Amino acid sequence: MRESADEALDSIVQGFKRFRREVFPAQEELFKKLATAQNPRAMFITCADSRIVPELITQSSPGDLFVTRNVGNVVPPYGQMNGGVSTAIEYAVVALGVRHIIICGHSDCGAMTAVLHPESLESMPTVKGWLRHAEVARTVVEQNFARCDCGQEHLELLTEENVVAQLNHLLTHPSVAARVASGKLFIHGWVYDIETSAIIAYDAESGRFLPLDGEVVPMATPRSRFNG
Ligand SMILES: [Zn+2]
Repeated sequence: MRESADEALDSIVQGFKRFRREVFPAQEELFKKLATAQNPRAMFITCADSRIVPELITQSSPGDLFVTRNVGNVVPPYGQMNGGVSTAIEYAVVALGVRHIIICGHSDCGAMTAVLHPESLESMPTVKGWLRHAEVARTVVEQNFARCDCGQEHLELLTEENVVAQLNHLLTHPSVAARVASGKLFIHGWVYDIETSAIIAYDAESGRFLPLDGEVVPMATPRSRFNG
């Protein structure tokens, strides 16, 4: 059952009051430190889906992650759309000097389902336009996985290929490409499973997604060329 609008808002305001009363006092020192500066460990690009909570699944604190979210964890290629994502990337890399950018897709992604069924987007022209940045992933899947049956496996493959596609788009951004080439910036592609909490990460060397909590952390970053 859906809550009424008032109940939904009430629970959000109650949560805020609880935060001020119980949570904030316990971390006052941290917030004092953060009041005038940030020095995040990483940029985290993920889907707007309400079930993905970057700070929760990485056990991060305020100030740790520079997060940008959108439908489908999309990164438009450089120059095609100088919108919020491109702006956030440039700011994170140039102004904040982050060393890591993580692109995180997820299971049961409505955006990926829509990419598979574009007819469902007829009443949402803006979403449709946005998700054209994910179309490359659909083509990769369609032309390389003949066995695909349009079911669950197809959705999982598309979700993974979309992360790979967005990593490729990320490298079209000059600020990113320059720092990756000199070994100052590392990029990562993850897929988070809502039901099990598992994360698989793209390993550029093997071209496969491997468990993030395996013995070696999979790396999506191309080899640096100018770090001498
Ligand atoms: Zn999603």
